[in-house]
Formats: sequence, C-alpha cells, structure tokens
Amino acid sequence: GTLNVRPSITMGISMYPVDGDTFAKLLSRANTAMRYAKSAARGTYRFYAGEMSRINDDQVALENDLREALERNELELHFQPKVDIATGRVRSAEALLRWRHPTRGMVPPNVFIPVAEETGLILPLGEWVLRQACRQLREWLDAGMSPVRIAVNLSAKQFHDADLAAIVRSELNDARLQPGYIELELTESALMCNPEESARTLESLSAMGVHISIDDFGTGYSSLSYLRRFPLDKLKIDRSFIRDLLVSADDACIVRAIISLAHSLRLRVVAEGVETHQQLEFLRELGCDQYQGYYCSPAVPADQFVALVARLRAQMPELTEADMLKTQSRLSAFVPQTSGQ
Ligand code: C2E
Ligand code: MG
Ligand code: MG
Repeated sequence: GTLNVRPSITMGISMYPVDGDTFAKLLSRANTAMRYAKSAARGTYRFYAGEMSRINDDQVALENDLREALERNELELHFQPKVDIATGRVRSAEALLRWRHPTRGMVPPNVFIPVAEETGLILPLGEWVLRQACRQLREWLDAGMSPVRIAVNLSAKQFHDADLAAIVRSELNDARLQPGYIELELTESALMCNPEESARTLESLSAMGVHISIDDFGTGYSSLSYLRRFPLDKLKIDRSFIRDLLVSADDACIVRAIISLAHSLRLRVVAEGVETHQQLEFLRELGCDQYQGYYCSPAVPADQFVALVARLRAQMPELTEADMLKTQSRLSAFVPQTSGQ
C-alpha cells in the first residue's frame, strides 16, 4: 500500500537587533519561539516575545527536575478500579503516574508527560511505570490479594520503540507474572499514524498474552478497517462524551454508537469519567461493559487500593484467575496456564 506522509513545518522567528545582538542569542530566542509555536499548534509560526523567555525558563527547570525525579524516588503509581457494570466486580485497575515534587507539590501528568515526551525522558519513565506495575502486582499476589489486571498507559514514543515487546516480556518475567495480568492503553493517534507497523507490534504483544485497549476513544481518528484488524480487547470511551451524556443528545448518540461498534467488533467497552449514579444507570441501559470514574473511586495510592478492593469485593463473588485472564483478542491462541503462583 501507499504510505501517506504529511510533513508540517513549525517556525520560531527572532529579529536582529531587538531580540539579541549575537547569533547565539538570536538562535536561542528563535528556538524559544518555536517551542511556543509547537505548543500552540503544528504547522504554525511565532515571533519571539519577552514573556516567552520566562515560560521557557519554567519549562527548562521542570525538565531538569524530571530528569532527577526517577533517582530521587519522587514518582509513584496510583490505581483506579475498572468496574464491571453488570456485576459490580473490580476486574482491573489503571495505573496512573504521580510525581510528588519536593517544592512544587503534586505535578499532574498532563503537565509532565508532554515534557517527558518532548525530551525523550518518556522512555525511561515509561519503563519505570511498567516495572513498578509488575512489582506491585507481584507484591499483592504474594500477600494473597485476589487477582486483578493492571492497565498501563503507553505514549506513542514508547509504542514505536523497537524494544517495547522485549521490555514488556522482561518485566513480566522478573515479576513472574502471566502476561494476561498486564493491559496496555494506547491512543488512536499512536496506533493510526503507522497502522501497518502498529499491527505487527500489537500482534506480538497480543500473542504474548498482553491485553490491549484504545484509550480516549472518539477524540482521535481511527480507521475502521484497522480497528477490525488489530488484536484489541477494549475501547475506552473518552471522558468528554460521558460528562454530558445525560444532557447532550449528541453525546448520547455517540456513546451508543461506540458501544454498538465495539460490540460488533467483539470488543469490550469501558466508559471513562463516570461521576454520577445517573450516568452509570444510563450506561447500563446502553449495554456498556465496564466503567471507571470518581463515582466508584479516583486513583488512590497502592495501600489504599488494597483496602478499596477488599471493600468492593466483600459483596461480590471472588473473581477467579482464569476469568480475569480472558481476552477478546482474535489472537486468543494464548491459553492461560493454570497458576503455579
Ligand atoms: P487517561 O489515561 O485517559 O487517564 C484518565 C484520567 O482521568 C486520569 O487523570 C484520571 O485520574 C482521570 N479521571 C478518572 N476518573 C475521573 C472522573 O470521574 N472524573 C474526572 N474529571 N476525571 C477522572 P490523570 O491521572 O491526571 O492522568 C491524565 C493523563 O495522563 C492520562 O489520561 C494519561 O494519558 C496520562 N498518564 C497518566 N499516567 C501515565 C503513564 O504512566 N504513562 C503515560 N504515557 N501517560 C500517563
Ligand atoms: Mg488511560
Ligand atoms: Mg483516557
């Protein structure tokens, strides 16, 4: 097939002599203006302006701190349950990265993940997340907690890293976990920018037994033929469609359509950002399989998560390991072995 590449140019402009009288200064300010333009939109340009310098200094300081965050043990994972709508069971949990900065306090991922992506730090950071998720699971299983799958977010850079499958395999091995304990969340844009390569990567992960979901579904664009080709387990409907579900007829239509699309592709559907009982009941009527959201719980630190699951599971029948390991992937040649753990 043909590959459609659409290059775009983003430009930053500085002017002699107002922005600087040396080449180095002009270049650095043009660079600042370019970063600024990039954060606004692709394919645009900006002239350097004085206040950009301050914003840029903040950015550089944040980058430097982030480089050290790993060594200084400032990162932690919080966990948010994904709940079966029909039974109320907690089947899995999403690991969400938190950065406890010594002076800035909690830095939200929406602030530091883009910085990590831009600087390439996302690779070591993402590897840490995967390792920590596996270690945490091993610790919980050893302590006798009933099985739960952990979903890890992958950024596009990580997904396109040639070492991804090897890294996943080695972290699973180190923690002595069956691959079905891990789910990877990818965005539409990460998957669709090079769908042939994505298909190969997904196939090797899925054949290993790892589960795959599409995150923030509906906000990017997906090719339907690839949706069918990719070995996926679930679609996660973006929070923005759930927020106004009860007041916006358009959003209700979109949610209904995503659920029916997912089910006809034999995928499960998860609604993100469910905050009220009414939203949950509506999703139940629409046949949505699982939900995640403050209505059940926000993401909480590991110790609180154990208590939360114990409380939620007190009323539920136990989830068996075989049940948890079930996959929707068409590569379901993978048969979970009975646990020797
Ligand atoms: P996401 O993967 O779509 O994660 C869901 C976000 O929605 C989380 O925000 C979660 O705390 C929030 N959320 C969950 N339930 C509700 C709700 O009922 N109402 C509202 N208003 N929000 C809810 P968070 O933790 O701030 O993460 C934001 C984004 O940062 C994530 O979006 C994900 O794209 C990224 N991210 C987080 N951790 C990682 C990571 O380890 N690696 C990578 N690559 N990205 C990560
Ligand atoms: Mg996610
Ligand atoms: Mg999401």
